[in-house]
Amino acid sequence: MGDIAITFDVDWAPDFAIDYAASLIDYYGITTTWFMTHRSPVCEKLASTKFVEVGIHPNFLQGTTQGKNPFQIMKNLMDIFPEAKSVRTHAMVYSAQIAQLFAMLGFAVDSSIYLGGMKNIKPLLARYSSINKQIVKIPYYWSDDGEVSQNLGWKDISKAPGLKVLCFHPLHIFLNTDCWDTYLNYKNNFPKGGDFKDAEEFINRDKFGAKDYLVQMSSYLGKTKTLSEIKEEFLSGKD
Ligand SMILES: [Zn+2]
Repeated sequence: MGDIAITFDVDWAPDFAIDYAASLIDYYGITTTWFMTHRSPVCEKLASTKFVEVGIHPNFLQGTTQGKNPFQIMKNLMDIFPEAKSVRTHAMVYSAQIAQLFAMLGFAVDSSIYLGGMKNIKPLLARYSSINKQIVKIPYYWSDDGEVSQNLGWKDISKAPGLKVLCFHPLHIFLNTDCWDTYLNYKNNFPKGGDFKDAEEFINRDKFGAKDYLVQMSSYLGKTKTLSEIKEEFLSGKD
């Protein structure tokens, strides 16, 4: 069936949402990779958890709060999470320069490419001979926000051949996002983020949503891998 990895893009989620998602994966005992966006006590605690691998999630969009240019943005995030070996860009902002910057800075895995529902995904080794660096690109197969927009039919995942990297967002897990209205109702009421009690009343409890996907998958997934494990097996020819 191919390897499965569960990843999270933190996307500046409030601590209570990160905590909630982390407690779910802890309950199911699954190994995960988290792409961090900001300094927070919860993120830093999570980064030291045994079954969590840490990556970073740079935002290169205009108006970013992470730094004044791509290099600075990366350096700022690397200062907060020095253990990060993998990277995924926020909102799929990407370019040849950005891809090379990740290799230049010594990242081992770049998971910025989204290939929603594509069969037979494999990692790809990108070599940069001019700077004597290389990086493994590990595209992702499914995301909770992609499901909302595209309705790719998650339930077929168990049959899909190839590597399946799944991308979740802590706030979508907390809200059990099933459609954009669920998310926007909360965001529009609390643009600067509310607390647990504020957010609770916006949780989708009727339709199948992001949390239901995570719970359903977690209960029959078996062993999930970190992106570093997938990279190692790929480089050693075991994949
Ligand atoms: Zn993001």
